Amino acid sequence: MISIIFLGTGGGAPSKYRKLPAVFVRVEGVGILLDAGEGVQERLSEASISPMDIDVLAISHMHGDHVLGVTGLLETMGLLGRKKELVIIGPRTIQDFIESSSSGTFFKPQFDIRFQSSLETKEFSITPFPTCHTIESQGYIIRTRDKIKIDINKAKELGISDWNLFRKIKTGYHADISPSTVEYITYKIKGISIAYTGDTRYCSEVLQNVKGVNLLIHDSTFLDEETAAEFGHSTSRDAAKAALNASVGMLALIHISSRYHDTTPLLTEAKRIFPRTILPEDLSKLVFK
Ligand SMILES: [Zn+2]
Ligand SMILES: [Zn+2]
Repeated sequence: MISIIFLGTGGGAPSKYRKLPAVFVRVEGVGILLDAGEGVQERLSEASISPMDIDVLAISHMHGDHVLGVTGLLETMGLLGRKKELVIIGPRTIQDFIESSSSGTFFKPQFDIRFQSSLETKEFSITPFPTCHTIESQGYIIRTRDKIKIDINKAKELGISDWNLFRKIKTGYHADISPSTVEYITYKIKGISIAYTGDTRYCSEVLQNVKGVNLLIHDSTFLDEETAAEFGHSTSRDAAKAALNASVGMLALIHISSRYHDTTPLLTEAKRIFPRTILPEDLSKLVFK
């Protein structure tokens, strides 16, 4: 199961309605924060998520609207007495930024921060992919692994009822049973995948990487701005084109410019191209099972 809370769905500058980019994802009990724009702490509090629930912080790029919430968030983790390690994934300069802003504010984290480029666990993976913005930037795919399930009726049919053996089969270790039997009594539940682009214009690098994901969370800064691509951003139509051409399950429009108070036109334009589109408000939630 993957649950997603859109903490901040605005972009560039915050508005009364939309704070800066931050998306909280919970997968198999692990808390992942995608970007941490200014105001992220207030949104976490409004969503009843403790900073201690964040195990992984994944930053898309170093523009202020995506990272200026990081220092304050780490300070609060320190104030709360955090001891648990925090994994940070991001562009090469994220470590310098955190170290210099921490030393500049006389803050010494009493917990370990581990910088890495991706994350693999038994249950899921977080994989970065390049996006097309005005500076080095990357999106992320979070993918849960396929699960092997036992068809109990078929197993019974063959006289197999050993739960210890079922457990071994599920973990892929089944030396004492023939592959054809395993194939007969099992079925696969496909993993869930979501992709977050951060800031990007419409580009093939993104398309190739997000192919077939269940949910694509895509930059949709502008409605119909000819200069969107020039500034490394997408229109809602670009986002819908990406969703369509990458055959994704659902599209969520994010990074909405503060100039749009009424976002209906952005959603309408996108839905003309890709009907399974949503434009989430701050603090709205989605669950994929
Ligand atoms: Zn941005
Ligand atoms: Zn940016």
